[in-house]
Amino acid sequence: MKSTCILCGSQKISLLYPEKRQKQSATFPHRSQGYYKITQSSGVRKNILRCEVCDLIFQEVNLERSEILDWYVLGQDDQYLREFKNRVGNAKRILSLLSQDGTGKRLLDVGCSTGILLCAAKEMGYDIYGIEPSKWAVEYINARLGFENIFCGSLEDYPVQENYFDVITLMDVIEHFSNPRRNLEIIHRILKPEGKIVILTPDIGSLMARIFKSRWWCIIPEHLFYFSRKTLKLLLEQTGFTVEKQMSIGRTFNLSHWAYKVVGERYKPFIESSVLSKIPLHINLGDQMLVVGSKGGIYA
Ligand SMILES: [Zn+2]
Repeated sequence: MKSTCILCGSQKISLLYPEKRQKQSATFPHRSQGYYKITQSSGVRKNILRCEVCDLIFQEVNLERSEILDWYVLGQDDQYLREFKNRVGNAKRILSLLSQDGTGKRLLDVGCSTGILLCAAKEMGYDIYGIEPSKWAVEYINARLGFENIFCGSLEDYPVQENYFDVITLMDVIEHFSNPRRNLEIIHRILKPEGKIVILTPDIGSLMARIFKSRWWCIIPEHLFYFSRKTLKLLLEQTGFTVEKQMSIGRTFNLSHWAYKVVGERYKPFIESSVLSKIPLHINLGDQMLVVGSKGGIYA
């Protein structure tokens, strides 16, 4: 494998799971549908590789950063708008690990999508900022939520001064970056000293990931990097953060949402009209890790 590990620089890279082909579209040759959907992955999942030195696991993707970004710019997903209240509750539970009160603090959500975490943060008193490449999601925020300070684009193009934010969150985002190290370096620069970074991402070191291997539900074309607690901690430390907390975290959704995961969309009219769409259920499979770090250490 002719790849270099972004974590340790080693070129001792081996194949973990071979490429899995699916139907492709004409617009995006590496995708099967015309635009990105949060709730439905698409396209060719390339080889999953593993660094033999540090154990970092990543997808062998040869796309340019701009090609990956274009895919998210066109992203839209009406299905994601369901479960809004539960999603805000999930975000609030995460933010409450920092503090119950965000008054007087600036929070930036990178990849804020339709503004779910920002809703939770606003209710907790934070001064909120968001970055999101999807035009559809930003239009949704503008029309429905009326939040100011939403930048439609990528973190790498975001115009902001250094040492500006108290908290920066990345919910289900870091695994999509073509270069997580570069993005963490930017975050380090724009966080205030002692500012917090909060990351939610699939945990490839989890029991579920080890049991299901290449069939683990988080192994999809859009996920380019697969961190374990060990590799994410190492990358955070290399980019100037001190890791304060690593834990697994579950999510609350109505039973109908979990039912779709099991039976697919086939029974949608039945499930939607049933009592399942009204009963919330919290599930923690242990395969989603939440990491809280602070800007500190020798690079701060
Ligand atoms: Zn490595």
